[in-house]
Amino acid sequence: MAQNILVLPGDGIGQEVMTEVRRVVDWFGENRGLEVNISEDKVGGAAYEAYGAPITDAIMDKAFAADCVLFGAVGGPQYDMLDFSLRPERGLLRLRKDLELFANLRPAICFDALAEASSLKKELVAGLDIMIVRELTGGVYFGEPRGISDLPDGQRRGINTQVYDTEEIRRVARVAFDLAGKRGNRVHSSEKNNVMESGILWKEEVQWVHDNEFPDVQLDHILADNCGMQLVRAPKQFDVIVTDNLFGDMLSDVAAMLTGSLGMLPSASLGARDEATGKSHALYEPVHGSAPDIAGQNKANPLACILSFAMALRYSLDRGGDADLLEAAVDRVLGAGTRTGDIMSEGSTLVSCTSMGDAVLTELNKTISG
Ligand code: NAD
Repeated sequence: MAQNILVLPGDGIGQEVMTEVRRVVDWFGENRGLEVNISEDKVGGAAYEAYGAPITDAIMDKAFAADCVLFGAVGGPQYDMLDFSLRPERGLLRLRKDLELFANLRPAICFDALAEASSLKKELVAGLDIMIVRELTGGVYFGEPRGISDLPDGQRRGINTQVYDTEEIRRVARVAFDLAGKRGNRVHSSEKNNVMESGILWKEEVQWVHDNEFPDVQLDHILADNCGMQLVRAPKQFDVIVTDNLFGDMLSDVAAMLTGSLGMLPSASLGARDEATGKSHALYEPVHGSAPDIAGQNKANPLACILSFAMALRYSLDRGGDADLLEAAVDRVLGAGTRTGDIMSEGSTLVSCTSMGDAVLTELNKTISG
């Protein structure tokens, strides 16, 4: 039976990179028997301009009905003056919150051909394969009270609240341990238990899940600041890192630079598995934003978004073999020296966003022509 995909390209380069993903999806339909019904709509600034809100109830209904959502990027300086509730990012936050996408998977894989592009020495990053599991629907980005208030002495006060409950921590820890069991069998749990009570709880609950449910996986606890330092000192010591929303936001961006470029980093956000159907809500998106500095110039690297679709094939569409095929095609494209500007190096061939899409399709075509 055909599966339903909701495509939300969003703003800026989100539109450009998603155009290339659509071509890849079509290729799998034409050549590998992938049956999908695709519905495309607006989100972020594009949705604000069309509908007056960064996401609408109708689009949320489509997202609930879909097997997965493919998301581009949102935002841009033209929306900076909007009220907070209308900002493009609110569209993404609502999707994450309402679909209860509590586990954000961010692989940081260094393709061999790109090891030179990392800001670290080649030997530190070649062969790197880390999975960062970030809690996505709780913590300081959502905690109450929040806001900016006026104080009697004329100052203003900004408040956000870091808050986690037992089950919020346990469910994301389970995702991390489960993934680790299929990879290197090691989890680092990262928080700040030395200065934050929520960090103490985080550490205790992750330990509980380990001791009671995954005793065979190696677990280490690491303070978030040390984790950032170790990521740039010796990143290959990590297999899976599980951490909260705020620290995960930062640590995954640190890991991003290990792999050479933001334009290479995919992500998946998963919800709880429905026991009856075996399915979970899921959203796949590149880690990068809408890149206003290069938007509309056909310069964006579409590989992060294409690799996000590979994750969708693996985690939502039950097509792990096709995911492997797509990732291998990307690997060969890079190995041949095809580069967008963000990953360009001497001796390589500089290509546009569209040509990078062409190159991936050419490699995919080789797999069927023998
Ligand atoms: P950004 O990720 O958009 O860009 C950072 C830098 O990386 C820019 O120089 C950009 O040109 C480059 N870059 C990013 N993706 C690239 C790609 N695929 N190919 C080539 N180069 C790439 O981050 P930013 O500049 O901080 O934010 C721009 C806008 O995007 C802001 O409005 C921000 O709020 C929004 N944003 C959205 C998301 C999201 O939708 N998930 C994430 C981050 C930022």
